[in-house]
Amino acid sequence: MKYEPVIGLEIHTELKTKTKMFCASRNDPDEKHPNVNICPVCTGQPGTLPTINEEAVKKTIKVGMALESKIADETRWDRKNYFYPDLPKGYQISQYDKPLCFGGELTIPGGRKIRVRRIHLEEDTGRLLHESHVGHSLVDFNRAGVPLMELVTEPDLRSGQEASAFAQELQLILRYLGVSDADMEKGQLRVEANISLRPENPNSKTQIPNLGTKVEIKNLNSFKAVRDAVDYEIKRQAELLEDGKKIVQETRGWSGTKGETFSQRSKEESHDYRYFPEPDLPSLKIDPVFIQDVAKALPELPAQKRERFARQYGLGAAQINTLVADEKLAEFFENVVSEFMDWESSGLDKDSRLAEGFDVAPHAVVDKQKLFDLAANYTLSDLLGLLNKASASVDDIRIKPEDFAEWLGLIHRGVITSRAAKDVLYEMWATGKDPSLVVKEKNLVQIQDAGEIEKTAREVVSRNAAAVSDYKKGKLEALKFLVGEAMKETRGKANPQLLKEIFEKLLK
Ligand code: ADP
Ligand code: MG
Repeated sequence: MKYEPVIGLEIHTELKTKTKMFCASRNDPDEKHPNVNICPVCTGQPGTLPTINEEAVKKTIKVGMALESKIADETRWDRKNYFYPDLPKGYQISQYDKPLCFGGELTIPGGRKIRVRRIHLEEDTGRLLHESHVGHSLVDFNRAGVPLMELVTEPDLRSGQEASAFAQELQLILRYLGVSDADMEKGQLRVEANISLRPENPNSKTQIPNLGTKVEIKNLNSFKAVRDAVDYEIKRQAELLEDGKKIVQETRGWSGTKGETFSQRSKEESHDYRYFPEPDLPSLKIDPVFIQDVAKALPELPAQKRERFARQYGLGAAQINTLVADEKLAEFFENVVSEFMDWESSGLDKDSRLAEGFDVAPHAVVDKQKLFDLAANYTLSDLLGLLNKASASVDDIRIKPEDFAEWLGLIHRGVITSRAAKDVLYEMWATGKDPSLVVKEKNLVQIQDAGEIEKTAREVVSRNAAAVSDYKKGKLEALKFLVGEAMKETRGKANPQLLKEIFEKLLK
């Protein structure tokens, strides 16, 4: 029998706010000292009262609006009761049957729309540090009471890849909205996956409505873990069903090293938590004007940016995805393009810095697509290469978009070879200098003079008899070596095409 995987996700996000969800303690995920951002409220002292953090409510509504959820006009808080040492009050303030946002959808790359069931607000717990070498555990309450947004999907996902794509797209949206850094390694974005199988009905376009018994997997702290754990679980359940066995409803963990899920505990039901309305907080009425204000301030979202980049710049999907995956990089690229276009379309650019001191020919026709491609290619190969190597972000770099555009101009006009361009860019990266200055200081203007190139080529030929004879015997590889030697000689400045032609002529 064939089975269809059914997957729903529950995703928790720590919101970026100044203070905690129900008190004035600082919300600082980077605080290294334990138990400094705490107060009587978030440590659950008797007699204290919570107050609602407006910023957290606003950020959650923002996410709701971005995912086309409905925003409740009245929302309520509930106590979720359970005992654990990281939960000082013995209950978590959450939202049970009146969440802030309900409904909505998120389109995963590839185009499938995944329905969102609800988005609600709650508070995070403290953190336990298990000091096994001293035989006891410590608890840090800095995280206790941090605003935690939970998003629950409908069971619309069908594979590990889709589950991971959903989480990744949500992360990007959260970052674009500025509501969370959503760093999975830091636990700011936590994914739980619910998985079941049901018989596939190949003759029917409509889905079988009945859902199978589900298993919930916790502790998925990377996108790879989400994908691998879901795929593993699909396989495990299929094998059990094939053997005529039943799926046990339970919570499982994921071991990345073993590549397996393992049983943790039998699943608790919502009645285990004895939810009841939080008596210390009023229900919250949300003013439609407040919602409208949030809606007006929504930024361009990743999907919209991808569409616009395709339309406006004619780039391919892979390039667009890489640019859009980092909002700052996308912004840098757009600034570069706009500067680059200015230069390239400003006629003779006699007055521009680009032409100053260099012998450049104006371009009769500006081929916009070529310029967009050039800007995208160099941004994604050279600039992103430098960023990745240094583990730096666009915010940290000294290269200004107008300087990067000027650098592209120098390449495009043939003022420098693409080989010398690498040295120029590195110098810009290291010093923040503008490229024209670097080219002048380091004397890196491309050598176009055939006589000068021929002189270098002759020297290289006379010094490399072995390669020359190899080439004459038909080893074409030897030419590459000779060109390389001449390039070294000229510090990458010789016009590569001319150089190759001259060698071919000399070695005939
Ligand atoms: P619970 O009460 O056990 O937490 P919910 O109904 O609240 O279950 O659903 C939690 C998540 O599990 C949601 O994302 C939902 O889409 C998903 N889910 C519910 N039932 C199934 C199922 N049978 N198979 C897979 N996912 C499911
Ligand atoms: Mg649940």
